[in-house]
Amino acid sequence: MTTPHPARDLGEAMRRGLANRCPNCGEGRMFDGYLTVAGKCAACGEPLGDYRAADGPAFFTICIVGALLVPILGFTFVIFRPEPLTLVLIVSAISVVLALVLLRFVKGAFIGYLWAKHERDPGA
Ligand SMILES: [Zn+2]
Repeated sequence: MTTPHPARDLGEAMRRGLANRCPNCGEGRMFDGYLTVAGKCAACGEPLGDYRAADGPAFFTICIVGALLVPILGFTFVIFRPEPLTLVLIVSAISVVLALVLLRFVKGAFIGYLWAKHERDPGA
């Protein structure tokens, strides 16, 4: 059985996306601004804007932040024994910063995955 699209290297595309670079050429920038996907790659012209990530990156970012926060919460509580309100404030601040930092990288990798699998938005 043949596929209508040529096979693309999934790992390479996700690595390039993780580095916020175009999954096709690895040269052009993936984002215009913080999370807006560039319409086209400035280097190779690949239509990156056709690959819509929707809620996928947010879901994976929440999972990663949650998995990282459990040991942080545990060790912080056991080692420092902070007041509950202090602990809540510290953990909240860490989770917000961690989510905002990771979201861009996760979205880049996600767009790379969509690109490698030819998952274009049918409405695009
Ligand atoms: Zn490119």
